[in-house]
Amino acid sequence: MSDFIAAPQTVRLAMSEPGVFFPVRRIFCIGRNYADHAKEMGAPAEAIFFMKPAEALTQAARIDYPGATSDLHHEVEMVVALGEGGKPVASAVGIDLTRRDRQSEMKARSGPWEIAKAFEGSAPIGLLQKGLPPASGRIALAVNGETRQSADLSDMLIPVDGILAALSQYFELAAGDLIFTGTPAGVAALQPGDTAQAEIDGLPSFSLTVNKER
Ligand code: MN
Repeated sequence: MSDFIAAPQTVRLAMSEPGVFFPVRRIFCIGRNYADHAKEMGAPAEAIFFMKPAEALTQAARIDYPGATSDLHHEVEMVVALGEGGKPVASAVGIDLTRRDRQSEMKARSGPWEIAKAFEGSAPIGLLQKGLPPASGRIALAVNGETRQSADLSDMLIPVDGILAALSQYFELAAGDLIFTGTPAGVAALQPGDTAQAEIDGLPSFSLTVNKER
C-alpha cells in the first residue's frame, strides 16, 4: 500500500510547557458571543457557528497582509483546546482574522464565510496553557500600543460549557479540537506594519506584526 500523495502533516501548536505540543484536529468558532460586538456588527445577539481549517493556525510573530482584502479585521478571542472525550484541557489567546469586506459581501448574498474566515494564517494563536480555561478575567487587544478591544470573559453570552453543549448537538467533539469562543466589541482594521498585542488574564499573551511589504 502506498499513499498517492505525501500525507498532509498534522498541525501542532506549541504549549507554554517547553517541548510540549498540541496536535490539532478541527477549529470551531462561535460568532456573536458578546452582545456589544453583535451590536457593532448590526447583527442580532444570537450565536452562530463556523469553522476554520487547522492550517489557518499560526504561531509566527509576523504574517504577510493577506490577499483578496483591503479590510483585514482583528478579533481577539479565548481559544479552548479539547482533550479526551471533548473536555477542555488547555486554553490560549487567539485572533480570528477576518476579511471583513469579503464577509460583508457573503452576508449580503446569504453565502458561506470561508473566503473571509478560513484562509491560511487567519488564526494566529499564542502558547497553549494546560488546565481549565478561565471563566472570567480581562480579554484585550491593542494595536501599536492603543487599546482597541477590552472586555471580560464573563461577558460571553454563552460560556464555555454552553458552547460545548451547543456544538455537541451537531458534532462529536474530540481530542485535538479547538474552539474560538467569540470576540468582544472594538474589532477594526489592521494595516501593513501594525503590531497587535493580544492578552487574556492568566494566559500567555502574544504579539503579531503584519509585514509592511506585501
Ligand atoms: Mn470571531
